[in-house]
Amino acid sequence: MRYPISFSPLLDSLSASKDHSAFSTECDVSCHRPRHKDCEIKATRVLSRPITRQEHIMTDPAEHLLDWLRDAHAMEQQAEQMLRAQSGRLEHYPELKARIDQHLEETLGQQKIVAECIERLGGSTSIVKDLTAKMMAFGQAAGGMTQTDEVVKGANMSYVFENLEIASYTSLIAAAERCGDAQTKAACERILPQEQAMAQWLLEHIPLITTQYLDRSAAGQEAKK
Ligand code: MG
Ligand code: FE
Repeated sequence: MRYPISFSPLLDSLSASKDHSAFSTECDVSCHRPRHKDCEIKATRVLSRPITRQEHIMTDPAEHLLDWLRDAHAMEQQAEQMLRAQSGRLEHYPELKARIDQHLEETLGQQKIVAECIERLGGSTSIVKDLTAKMMAFGQAAGGMTQTDEVVKGANMSYVFENLEIASYTSLIAAAERCGDAQTKAACERILPQEQAMAQWLLEHIPLITTQYLDRSAAGQEAKK
């Protein structure tokens, strides 16, 4: 389990002074693996409560790996929401809808794969971080657009999202290799080609989606979805 982010006067004063000497740099608030129990107890004694995420300075590559896997899991949950919303709205672009549905299935598989990695490393998938929350807002915007040109904007934003996923798994593969975690590396290597294929498909089809949209719009047909 992980502790909720909470603030106390003591924490505020420590944060303000940037004095993190009170915290052990070895402890791990983000994963709570059993071997870090001592550090938690130590930190709890200093602060009379567990240290928070912001106070904690991560130095262990394995800790970063687990953290980034959690980001990836949240990213895939957002991908699912975005793809579902897009597929649910599309009416006049059957090829795009079919590709989105295919990638939705892939995305559900990716969520399972990433969750298994997190659990194997002793982490949990329940925490959403700041950066992830921002990314999720992006995904929500991409999935929930209702402008007159939503199909074009949605395809463009999906392309951006897929590239974020490509970057994330590329980074995770390097991190897993650095940590000697062959299973996580293999898992991410299974996911990466699916993201690359989706990004490539979108890039190749954005011109057609755009001209179809313009043609429908010019002919006075419903074009946006
Ligand atoms: Mg994905
Ligand atoms: Fe994807």
